[in-house]
Amino acid sequence: MTLSDLFHRQPGEPPRRPGAAAPAEQVALAESLLQACAHLLTHRLDPDESMRWVFDALLRAAPRVRLCWSWVGPPDALRIVPGNVCGPARGYVDGLVLERNQVTESGPAFSLLRQDQLVTHNIRADSPYAPWRQAYQQHGLRSVLGLPLRSERSGSRGMVVMYADQADYFDQLGLGMFDSLATLLGAVVVQADQQNRLTREAQQDPLTGLLNRRSLYEHQPPRGPGLERCASVLLLDLDHFKTVNDERGHLAGDEVLKAVARRLLDGVRSADRVARWGGEEFLVWLPSTPLEGARRLAESLRERIGSVPIALPGGEVRQTVSIGVAEMRPDEHLEPAVARADEVLYEAKRHGRNQVCVWRPTTPEAAASDRPPGTALPNNPPDDPELALIGKQLDGQITRWNDGAERLFGYSAQEVIGRNIALLLPADRLNEEQRILDRLQSGEAIDNLETTRLHRDGHPIAVTLSVTPLWGRGGTIVGAAKTVRRRRGTEPPAAPSAPALPPVDTPPVHLAAPRPPAAEPDPLQPTPPPTP
Ligand code: GH3
Ligand code: MG
Ligand code: MG
Repeated sequence: MTLSDLFHRQPGEPPRRPGAAAPAEQVALAESLLQACAHLLTHRLDPDESMRWVFDALLRAAPRVRLCWSWVGPPDALRIVPGNVCGPARGYVDGLVLERNQVTESGPAFSLLRQDQLVTHNIRADSPYAPWRQAYQQHGLRSVLGLPLRSERSGSRGMVVMYADQADYFDQLGLGMFDSLATLLGAVVVQADQQNRLTREAQQDPLTGLLNRRSLYEHQPPRGPGLERCASVLLLDLDHFKTVNDERGHLAGDEVLKAVARRLLDGVRSADRVARWGGEEFLVWLPSTPLEGARRLAESLRERIGSVPIALPGGEVRQTVSIGVAEMRPDEHLEPAVARADEVLYEAKRHGRNQVCVWRPTTPEAAASDRPPGTALPNNPPDDPELALIGKQLDGQITRWNDGAERLFGYSAQEVIGRNIALLLPADRLNEEQRILDRLQSGEAIDNLETTRLHRDGHPIAVTLSVTPLWGRGGTIVGAAKTVRRRRGTEPPAAPSAPALPPVDTPPVHLAAPRPPAAEPDPLQPTPPPTP
């Protein structure tokens, strides 16, 4: 004999006579349920609301019913937790969790998951099921009805369970009516499945499975003074992605997008949100992350994506990414922060791609205002140990021009090349600077470093280094920066009243014999290591 048999009528117990006891109550209940169904058909309630609406109608029409609850989940669920609990005896299921084990497997709840027929039991003071003894003694419950629910489409299973304070209550009311109710509530489960699927589809990008732009906007936490103080955003754009589509086909491009999405998800914390922002752009939203933490994470994501080739059927592809980083102010929403990240992403592209650029307000005044980055801080004191080291190496004076996204260093390089030079290097590439200087000192042509590819741990990294020899000729460090930018095409032409700057096409200075200009690096091909 199984536990389940114990719940059923004992041999010799008289058969119940369906619908024998309370015709008036039957009519009231039928009317009430009919009205509830009409309400469900005409109002777009969510499944939980629907369930509670029906329970309320039932409890009003049948006062002997003391408790109703429902549950929906997979057929192999390991636990059943009552939900949508309604009725005066709701205290009975407070904290009740039905765990699946060898004993409960054949008990009333888990049996319901396997069958399509409703079941009724009487609850006795000596019930073999301990919670029912409590239901009997503490809550006055005497009978229980279990309705199985099922959604064929998704394979979900569910149940509605009702308790009355009178033995045989549900049998006497007539089980046919509850059978119909089970069918109706089964439709509610189908509706729940469909709704969940639609919600998922509305929030997800179908190719990558990431959140889409709209859902990221919708899931922003409340912002304001004292709330989420230090969120940051990363805006990522794949480098030269058109080349992948052109050379390997659109399907291969899709696979690259999926692989990048996976690497992004693997590289962030569970609280972070990753969205596909547009075609080959991604947005990572980092709650509780100040700018420096966001920059470090951006660096690690850049490395994670670009350092390991993506395996595709026709051969692997190396895909790098450029990233703009911006911090969100406490009172600010996503949009302006994304706009700032976009601004510096553009800088990252301009400066050679495969790099991280950070939006930093340059002064407290600038931070307070909405001024874009790029405000010059001429002649910052050389308070940075890295600067001091470089200064010592070159035995020269150092001046720093800080524009937020990158730093310009001016060196008195008289001993090396007989004049001063200026280097424009993104702030997050400071650690590459010494190696670049070594190369300068070893006599490499400076103009060939305009866009330089270096290697770190065997992987190519792009470093944009702009060098101008012009500063020494009476110009200022800011003037030199402008010259560098004009040569790149990122600075508007100088106004006539500005201090005289040398022409844009001034020949570059060479430490050694000039070399032919470097070809535009192919982002998908590993670059040979630099000449020692
Ligand atoms: P850059 O480094 O300047 O960003 O170069 P890029 O080639 O990535 O330039 P751009 O942003 O102009 O090109 C984006 C390309 O991404 C163009 C578009 O065809 C492709 N793309 C956008 N969405 C998809 C997609 O869903 N699948 C595939 N395969 N390609 C896409
Ligand atoms: Mg793009
Ligand atoms: Mg791109």
